[in-house]
Amino acid sequence: MKKEAIVLKYSSTRGNAEQLDSAKAIIRGLAADGGLFVPDAMPQVDMAFIEGLKALSYEERAEKVLGLFLTDYTAEELAGCVTRAYANGRFDTEKRAPVKAVGEKSVLELWHGPTSAFKDMALQLLPQLMSTALKKTGEKDEVLILVATSGDTGKAALEGFRDVPQIRIMVFYPQGGVSRIQQLQMLTQEGSNVNVTAVTGNFDDAQSGVKRIFGDKDFNEALAAKGIRLSSANSINWGRLVPQIVYYFSAYADLLSAGTIEPGEAIDFTVPTGNFGDILAGFYAKCMGLPVHKLICASNANNVLTDFLRTGVYDRQRDFFKTISPSMDILISSNLERLLYHMTEDKEKVASWMQQLQQQGRYDVGSELLAKIQETFWADWTSDEDTEACIAEVYRKHHYVADPHTAVAWSVAEKYQQATGDAHHMVVVSTASPYKFNGSVLDALGVKTQGVDEFTLLDELQQRNEDPIPEGLASLRKKAVRHDGVCAPATMEKAVMLFASADSVQK
Ligand SMILES: *Cc1c(COP(=O)(O)O)cnc(C)c1O
Repeated sequence: MKKEAIVLKYSSTRGNAEQLDSAKAIIRGLAADGGLFVPDAMPQVDMAFIEGLKALSYEERAEKVLGLFLTDYTAEELAGCVTRAYANGRFDTEKRAPVKAVGEKSVLELWHGPTSAFKDMALQLLPQLMSTALKKTGEKDEVLILVATSGDTGKAALEGFRDVPQIRIMVFYPQGGVSRIQQLQMLTQEGSNVNVTAVTGNFDDAQSGVKRIFGDKDFNEALAAKGIRLSSANSINWGRLVPQIVYYFSAYADLLSAGTIEPGEAIDFTVPTGNFGDILAGFYAKCMGLPVHKLICASNANNVLTDFLRTGVYDRQRDFFKTISPSMDILISSNLERLLYHMTEDKEKVASWMQQLQQQGRYDVGSELLAKIQETFWADWTSDEDTEACIAEVYRKHHYVADPHTAVAWSVAEKYQQATGDAHHMVVVSTASPYKFNGSVLDALGVKTQGVDEFTLLDELQQRNEDPIPEGLASLRKKAVRHDGVCAPATMEKAVMLFASADSVQK
């Protein structure tokens, strides 16, 4: 049976009536009313579609799933995008996102890309989608991506956007506020369209500076006069979320191939969560027809989502903790807004909750919606101490080295199974290579790390881990530092204008 080609449009979660093709939504990033772009319908698949993925490469699986959402891109355009994103030699495994059996559970490893963290799954593809969007919409302006980073996102964005036509990227990081490895990863970044600048302040200073620049009308007009428009690479952009839906399908297809599950069998995913992007992609997959039973949201001590998913009250007014799973140290999970929209389809309500969040720091979705959310989601959190204990135990029992983010998820998956007795097959989503957080991992394994340099730690971990040290980390030893810019929080505008005026970008 041949289905009519469906054309999806995207509009704001907050009610602005404007409807855009996906290409325009991806260039724009954020809707004009501050809301997030969402598709106006949910594509549906059946088991034949899912079983058809078994024989395909990751790139081909991505083409199929993306094609359901990015209906204004041609098949050729999507094929080009996914090839440049995933088959560019920067992933260290044929499978891109392999599923490994670890004890009774499966682990979905999302960190085989160039920066050894899961952000690569989306940030290798977003630049390709954006650059193709610029071409197909006839946009003449150049896009300047501004990023404030506390470590991981900056490097992944730099790797994704480097040398992409019609786009340049500038990353601000807090001087002294990122790990030695993270700093080296950024300062040695190659590419003709990249800039990395240290800010003499903390992450909030860098972040506020970037927000100030995005909101400065005069500044944006001055850039527009140069043919440049600003955009962002964070996970509010639809082009960053949609690539993440693919690996849920890919994991299911691989579990079918391995005979771990039967066609149609529902499975659970536990996801280490910060901005709610990764787990939301799992929710999209479920809504499309992937047999997902529960999505389990795992947090660290910054457990604002655990509280929300248990009580229906989102309250950001709380202490902020620095943990050993820093990529989840977050108090505002932006992508939750998309979930609230899909669960209610009530844009007025979503807009009012987001306004309450901004003005009062909290909102309450009420018991009816909470019950509906809890049909799909379950949540818990893990302390640093328990995360370390989990790393040690998983290593002792299974000889598998988990990074701290993955261990948070593993530990919450066990809490879930104990609390509910649920016996569906469990997939723990693994978001970082243990090498990227070698200090915390070795601490957990009882190895002395104090005063030991990063490269010695990599070697130490190598002796306990089957996987080799990722090339991107190993090669840092011999790479030249290419960026030395420093600015004060108050002079970030000047730094941006200087980079925007530089003429080194490939057209
Ligand atoms: C970003 C990140 C997360 C959180 O993902 P969200 O999509 O923000 O929920 C978890 N683990 C690692 C290693 C990350 O880099």
